[in-house]
Amino acid sequence: MLPGFAGKPGTALQAGCLGAVAPILGHLWEKPVYWNPEIETLSAEQLRQLQLERLRATLARALASPFYRERLAASDLRPGDLTSLEEVRRLPFTTKEDLRARGPDFLTVPRDLLVRLHASSGTTGQATVVYYTRTDIEAWAELVARSMYMTGVRPGDVFQNMMGYGLFTGGLGFHYGGERLGCLTIPAGAGNSRRQVQLMVQFQTTVLHIIPSYALYLLNVFAEMGVDPRELPVRIAFIGAEPHSEDMRRRIETAYGLKAYNSYGLSEMNGPGVAFECPEQNGMHVWEDAYLLEVVDPQTLETLPPGVVGELVFTNLTREGMPLIRYRTRDLASYEDAPCPCGRAMRRISRIQGRTDDMIIIKGVNIFPLQIEKVLMSLPEVHTNYLVELSRHNYNDIMTVKVEVKESFFKEDLRYLTNLRKRITEALKSELLITPVVELVEPNTLPVSEGKALRILDRRHEA
Ligand code: ADP
Ligand code: ZN
Repeated sequence: MLPGFAGKPGTALQAGCLGAVAPILGHLWEKPVYWNPEIETLSAEQLRQLQLERLRATLARALASPFYRERLAASDLRPGDLTSLEEVRRLPFTTKEDLRARGPDFLTVPRDLLVRLHASSGTTGQATVVYYTRTDIEAWAELVARSMYMTGVRPGDVFQNMMGYGLFTGGLGFHYGGERLGCLTIPAGAGNSRRQVQLMVQFQTTVLHIIPSYALYLLNVFAEMGVDPRELPVRIAFIGAEPHSEDMRRRIETAYGLKAYNSYGLSEMNGPGVAFECPEQNGMHVWEDAYLLEVVDPQTLETLPPGVVGELVFTNLTREGMPLIRYRTRDLASYEDAPCPCGRAMRRISRIQGRTDDMIIIKGVNIFPLQIEKVLMSLPEVHTNYLVELSRHNYNDIMTVKVEVKESFFKEDLRYLTNLRKRITEALKSELLITPVVELVEPNTLPVSEGKALRILDRRHEA
């Protein structure tokens, strides 16, 4: 048996599939292998063909839901008429507001075929609810297992899942994926920081799933407990759920001594496992056998070409209970369709730049929190946390950036700190084009969230 194929139940290693893989792999023995070789080695043309077939099937299925029956009645497109993927653009978009207003009307199956529901974390208002049939849960677990396997996780790995196990999809989504892959899965859940460290030590965790801002925070707890994470066997972390910068990733990698992979998903598209980095780390492959990707201009809604940042729009291609068509995610990224050295033809999306709804407009300038993070995390003096406060004085918007400074630098004299504050202000100004008020604060004094970090406190309405 070939290394890497071992342990996956039910994977028949057929000559045919090896034939397809070998030319891509070159040196077969050293190169990556696939969880689902049949799908992961499809050529771009084969993938588009599969998507077209699945899109037709999805449209047909969607017509069983009251929402799409109404919506699609207005369009002259019948599922069988669809001759190219581009024709999807003739269909209307689905939005978060549609889901909020019409939730259960999206269902295509009777209620007693549903086995689970999840709700989005409600970052931007009332939570939206998504429902799953048994088949949906299995297909989702399969995608998460495939994502994890792609980065080098193998059966026998000890996987500590530090995500909330509730309505949020990050916890259970990865839990089922880890089990399906064959990991010893620790349902650690979010928070409980000292216990997290103890679990890692006790069970010799090799793989983590963790929110990036929490990963940085947890380093303080490691230090307090006198444990060096670099001496533990942990070698892979999945970081996602919130926008984060390349510098943030590098900090996590260096401090823990592991490789961190960016993981993207949203509850409306099942949850995690929509797009994931391969070992090349040159963007996140969208699992295009399950999701049809479009990138559109959020204002004009025109389709955008590769390399241009716009709003990600997804259509489910395999979902049974609640297929969504042209769902506007509000997440901003670009895509790339050049071939990836890993052999997967699936398009890659860039790091998420932010959400259309977490953009701050201040003094007429558009700012995303990630821009601030990028600047701060590149400065060695900056500790693990920061907070942006927006206030209003005399009709004037003021942005205050509170920045934690590492203990060793905080002990420096006043002149040093004044100078540091000036440097941070200048660096932020050149990135943001406006001048923020920078406040330096002691390490571990800003609030920490167990879930997604709260980066912006908008107090402008209080003025
Ligand atoms: P909510 O919209 O309430 O946060 P979810 O819990 O479904 O709902 O979270 C999905 C959202 O989380 C995505 O739409 C995206 O904004 C963000 N997200 C998920 N993964 C990533 C990632 N790897 N990088 C940046 N943002 C991410
Ligand atoms: Zn790749």
